[in-house]
Amino acid sequence: MTVETLTPPPVQAELGLSWRPGFATLGPAFSTAIQAQPLPAPYPVGVSASAAALLGLDALALSDPLVIEALAGSRTLAGSSPVATLYSGHQFGVWAGQLGDGRALLLGEVDAPGGPLEIQLKGAGRTPYSRGGDGRAVLRSSIREFLCSEAMAGLGIPTTRALAVVGSDAGVRREEIETAAVVTRLAPSFIRFGHFEHFAARQDVDSLRTLADHIIDRHYPQARAGEGFAGNAYAALLAQVTLRTAAMVAQWQAVGFCHGVMNTDNMSILGLTIDYGPFQFLDGFDPRHICNHSDTQGRYAYDQQPQVAYWNLFCLGQALMPLIGDTELAMAALEPYKQRFPIEYLARMRAKLGLADEQPEDADLLDGLLRLLAAHQVDWTIFWRRLADHVCGGPVEPVRDLFLDREGFDTWIARHAARLAGTDRPAAGLAMLAVNPRFVLRNHLGETAIRQARQKDYSGIAALTTLLSWPFEQHPGFDAYADFPPDWASTIEISCSS
Ligand code: AMP
Ligand code: MG
Repeated sequence: MTVETLTPPPVQAELGLSWRPGFATLGPAFSTAIQAQPLPAPYPVGVSASAAALLGLDALALSDPLVIEALAGSRTLAGSSPVATLYSGHQFGVWAGQLGDGRALLLGEVDAPGGPLEIQLKGAGRTPYSRGGDGRAVLRSSIREFLCSEAMAGLGIPTTRALAVVGSDAGVRREEIETAAVVTRLAPSFIRFGHFEHFAARQDVDSLRTLADHIIDRHYPQARAGEGFAGNAYAALLAQVTLRTAAMVAQWQAVGFCHGVMNTDNMSILGLTIDYGPFQFLDGFDPRHICNHSDTQGRYAYDQQPQVAYWNLFCLGQALMPLIGDTELAMAALEPYKQRFPIEYLARMRAKLGLADEQPEDADLLDGLLRLLAAHQVDWTIFWRRLADHVCGGPVEPVRDLFLDREGFDTWIARHAARLAGTDRPAAGLAMLAVNPRFVLRNHLGETAIRQARQKDYSGIAALTTLLSWPFEQHPGFDAYADFPPDWASTIEISCSS
């Protein structure tokens, strides 16, 4: 009798997920299969219950030590088949050539209650596209990405999601030695404009078509008929991406969000906010604000974001040209940005102002306000929230006190009151409270949570995750999180180093 020696299969972490064929099935032109590099002794740093719910999971399932190891890339998640995907892109307006997932691993795609979701680990080690990088992400930038993903979702802004962040004491060299972390991200797709640019630059039209067909079939089936574009599905795809991008950036502007690195490889084909690096929510309103310390020219300043998004869409249009085949159709697909962005933006701003209907003078009312806010660098979030409280029936002083130019403010608020005349003010005020958040992820809040986390105290992250997941609620007892930034906040420098 022969005795077979069986090697026991390595213990895999189970989450009971239902995996399905995903992006990896497109083949080796698009991605490379690769295993994560284990991180020693990982521990949980943050978890999002609402992101877990997207997978049909209870957040408790993520506290299993085997699962934490899987989220650190130190153990296989049962059913996953990790790949790194290939893309290129324009960085700071210049063609950067091949980039790719240098530190992200796509574990695969799962069925989820709201539709299929891809699961990705960011910071799980080197890939064929690491280009000399270490494939790692540091704790501070991972915490920022985790919190901001969930903050944007709480604000109702399209975004990739963050399920969890796990840390390790393993050292990572940046300007100084820091520690490593991994963020688990979720999205229906992580495909960027840069994925299309990659195959266009290589003049690999077959792969370009495969990619576009994949995205159309999965995410834009209505583009297939090419309606409005002479049956050209690829022009219709470009038009759909254009509209979604316009809507996303309008939401950024309304909430005072600066992305910081709007390179084409950081632009989602689904119009999701993606790749949180040196982002910032405005404190005082300064339209020219630059949040990325590495952006010396201010290419990605707050007030440049709408134009930059259009520039990026133009790059996408150029990449799709071999498929669209007709410059006029491509331009017709991009053109609606110029109408859609202001429509989306004004709609958001009207809602912030409590205006339920449209009047021709609204743009001027808004313009006058923005000039006053900019002149005094009035705190963006606090102004809007106080205005909402005032329209709800509260006194005007807390709003007025924000302005040095009291006369200018008095004139403006009288105009606003006149515009609201005849409407139910308390109802308008309540509607304003539902669109003007009390809590945003200000730099100093993130920084404080990071400093605590470095001491292995994750309570700040947990508190912020809750507040930012429901940012329009009052959350009594958490006033300090809704307050002005302290003086030291202006000394925080966030660069591309992550
Ligand atoms: P980002 O600035 O984070 O959007 O990254 C731009 C490009 O650099 C992408 O291709 C990333 O995958 C890659 N990258 C950034 N940091 C690292 C790193 N530490 N190791 C490897 N690749 C990286
Ligand atoms: Mg990126």
